[in-house]
Amino acid sequence: MRAVVLKEPGILKVESVPDAVAEPGEILLRVRNCGICGSDLHAAKLGIGMPPGTIMGHEFAGEIAALGEGVEGWKVGERVVSLPQMTCGSCAACQRGEGHHCPAARVIGLGALPGAYAELVRVQPAQLLRVPDGVTMRQAALVEPLAVGLHGVRLGSVTTETACVVMGAGPIGAVTLLWARHAKARAIVVSDPSPGRRALAARLGANAVVDPTTRDPASALRDLAGVDPEVVLECVGLKGTLNAAVLLAGVHGRIVVLGVCTETDEIFPLAGIMKELEIAFAFAYTHAEFAAALEALRSGAIDVTPLVTDVIDLADVPEAFRALERPESQCKVVIELP
Ligand SMILES: [Zn+2]
Ligand SMILES: [Zn+2]
Repeated sequence: MRAVVLKEPGILKVESVPDAVAEPGEILLRVRNCGICGSDLHAAKLGIGMPPGTIMGHEFAGEIAALGEGVEGWKVGERVVSLPQMTCGSCAACQRGEGHHCPAARVIGLGALPGAYAELVRVQPAQLLRVPDGVTMRQAALVEPLAVGLHGVRLGSVTTETACVVMGAGPIGAVTLLWARHAKARAIVVSDPSPGRRALAARLGANAVVDPTTRDPASALRDLAGVDPEVVLECVGLKGTLNAAVLLAGVHGRIVVLGVCTETDEIFPLAGIMKELEIAFAFAYTHAEFAAALEALRSGAIDVTPLVTDVIDLADVPEAFRALERPESQCKVVIELP
């Protein structure tokens, strides 16, 4: 099968590799679509937990190509989307639907198990959901990031009363904005230095978009809603952005950290103390939230189509990684296989 292989940190190559095969209890998918995630860019560059030969890709939808020994209840050809891990299914975390906290979890596409930057990928039946009629495979590949945004907005307890700032209008900022809109937050300001991404946030329904290098998002929110930010959804994850969130939030504000910063960072605690801030760190989503994200696509409550700015072939992935180093107009780049 064709696959995009991480040869060494920073080096991706499109290669022919042996076909993936479903082991007993697993299902083999023919990949139709797979999104490129910010974590992939980061992990590919640094190679953290990604041995040479890793196949990335954890945001995918496909058709069932084969059933492993002992698998029942699924049929070849069914359109499905999968949570990106295999888990034990019986521990306390699995029982809570939090497979990402399962001590035995093996993540698909981030080093432990091969991912979906490939024609075939192995998955676990317990992690599969059928894609309803009316939801395209391209849309279904966005369920994973969409679930991330839902989890963050829930952690922020965003309601119709909430005035919020979404920091960052990349894919995670964009899905977070969509859920904050869905919760009918009374005012949403999105900040991003990229003009292309600000334009997308405006199209997705932000009440105001600002370039944080030239304008304070909190003052934009005060202009709109007359209050300081009550919830700040940090969707950047660079050194310094968490402290920027601390400085932005108003008294008794809540910060939800969705951006994934992988280096030691500092905050100025006194600013948080004086305002009695709460900070919640978000990681992934529950099984139920993943299902809720798929249902939101089916019902039309959320439209992810505008997020997809680029549809590419496997062969174009290395180039797309280079382009995403300095994103301009791109938001979600989705691989599509014939
Ligand atoms: Zn992702
Ligand atoms: Zn478990």
